[in-house]
Amino acid sequence: MELGIHPVMKLAKSVERLKPSPTIAAGEEVRKLLAKGEDIVRFDIGEPDFDTPEHIKRAGIEAIEKGFTHYTSVRGIPELREALIEDQKKKGIGMTGQQTVFYPGSKIALFSVLALLVDPGDEIILQEPVWPTYGSIVEYFGGTPVPVNEWDDKNPAAKFSPAEFENQITSKTKAILVNSPSNPTGAVIPENKIEELLQICRTKKVPMILDRIYSALTYDGVEDKIPQYDIEDGDMIIISGFSKEYAMTGWRLGYTIAPKRFTDLLVQLQDNSTSCPASFVQVAAVAALTGDRDWQKKMNKEYQERRDTMVSGINKIPGWNCLPPQGAFYCFPTISSQNDSVSFSGKLLSQGHVSSVAGKFFGEHGEGHLRLSYTTSKERIVEGMRRIREFKA
Ligand code: PMP
Repeated sequence: MELGIHPVMKLAKSVERLKPSPTIAAGEEVRKLLAKGEDIVRFDIGEPDFDTPEHIKRAGIEAIEKGFTHYTSVRGIPELREALIEDQKKKGIGMTGQQTVFYPGSKIALFSVLALLVDPGDEIILQEPVWPTYGSIVEYFGGTPVPVNEWDDKNPAAKFSPAEFENQITSKTKAILVNSPSNPTGAVIPENKIEELLQICRTKKVPMILDRIYSALTYDGVEDKIPQYDIEDGDMIIISGFSKEYAMTGWRLGYTIAPKRFTDLLVQLQDNSTSCPASFVQVAAVAALTGDRDWQKKMNKEYQERRDTMVSGINKIPGWNCLPPQGAFYCFPTISSQNDSVSFSGKLLSQGHVSSVAGKFFGEHGEGHLRLSYTTSKERIVEGMRRIREFKA
């Protein structure tokens, strides 16, 4: 974008580095076709199609009715902090209420963490294929994303190599950022590999940022586990939120867990930007963390069945293949013969009436793949797979 192009607004130089989000752009494209009345099978959507569970909704509504509609501390209401501490204990993390901040969504949590770390010229090491937002934020702050390819379609669990991350560490490295379960591959980093990576981070004095937003969405008995860890040790920052685990995308609630002094700076940043997430959303989140989890087991069972339906459909398409991903709600099949996933995904939408996100948007190593979300019913998945087979034929 040419700077100063606007006669009144003299734009900041950083605007040159601002990029649209390809996953959101894919959704916008589909919405235009739907508005024209077209029947599209949607595999592009990165959010649960399940409604927020009733007890969570009720808690939010009751909070509004009781007038709980004012600012709160950016550190979260005390009940939420307590509930998070208990929840994190089960996830292997020792923390106190002084080590967390709540945000209107985990995207802004991530943005805030990177704002505190990245100066122009700094490097952030990322696993590839990677959710494009990470790189876009790093670049917005003038930094450089350094990709490590940790994906092998044929052996997803074994490929993750902490040594490859270590090889990329330079004097400019400000953090290693990993996501497990992964968007877009669904891969879960094994506990021992997280441990190994943490050891490297400790030795090299580079923090590890771990995005656990899909943590509760795992299948086949696989668990997203990390070694028992006290956050004050200082080598790890956790980013997560309520969007995927509790089907609460529109409520907008995310959090960071980080050492106290870093958290104090995050608090200052929020004091000057978001102030706090919506008060009644925090009450709903307490209900999410402390309430019954049977619904979540049902949701995961349904996701697993849909995943199996999608994987079996994919493997019937000549030249395509996909092993069952262990987490999140995405398949990331190889579409072998297609070297241009962007144009293939475009044609699949306009001519085949199936939406997807091109693998290339998830980095160079994502080319030759598509991201297909199974956040739709089994019937629609079967129909979508039929359309893809016919489109390819
Ligand atoms: N991290 C990852 C890996 C994601 O896929 C997403 C959403 N697509 C987010 C963070 C952000 O989620 P939210 O802002 O809704 O909390």
